[in-house]
Amino acid sequence: MKLDLTTLLKNETDMIDVSFEFEEAEIDYYGEIIKFKEPVKVLGFAKRISDQFFLEVEIKVSITTHCARCLQEVSKSLSIKTFDELLPVSKEKDIEQDENVVFYDSHHIDLLEYSREQLLINLPYKTVCHEDCAGICTHCGGNRNVESCSCDITVAGEDELDPRLAQLRDWFQKAKE
Ligand SMILES: [Zn+2]
Ligand SMILES: [Zn+2]
Repeated sequence: MKLDLTTLLKNETDMIDVSFEFEEAEIDYYGEIIKFKEPVKVLGFAKRISDQFFLEVEIKVSITTHCARCLQEVSKSLSIKTFDELLPVSKEKDIEQDENVVFYDSHHIDLLEYSREQLLINLPYKTVCHEDCAGICTHCGGNRNVESCSCDITVAGEDELDPRLAQLRDWFQKAKE
């Protein structure tokens, strides 16, 4: 979905409503399937603040996934808020990669691509059904929210490692070789 920013960039308006919805298929997110129960809603504006231009949106999703501890299905509603400066693509070479900037090309941005990117960056990498979910016993396999067992389990550190950090660690190890 291409968004035309011409009226904003030419100061013919201060604000363009960019709200829309899109269907997202399920995503394999670090080995966990995330399903979208309803269309992803994007609400927001492209706007001018003094002589700069910004894109401010809220992305609302309703997802179904599995609890990282007890593996039961969980549903969550998420709201992702973004605020980025709009700059022409000719400025791309002057900008640090981690700055909050969206580049427009011939007065247009691809709002669908932007929204999907923001969604992927901001999905929780690990979802739990409750903060105090007791999880599955790694010894007998019982759901410890339902019944307590008498197994002696010591939590292995490796299980708790953020998969993104694990990827980074592997990468560093490879780089050293
Ligand atoms: Zn759980
Ligand atoms: Zn057990």
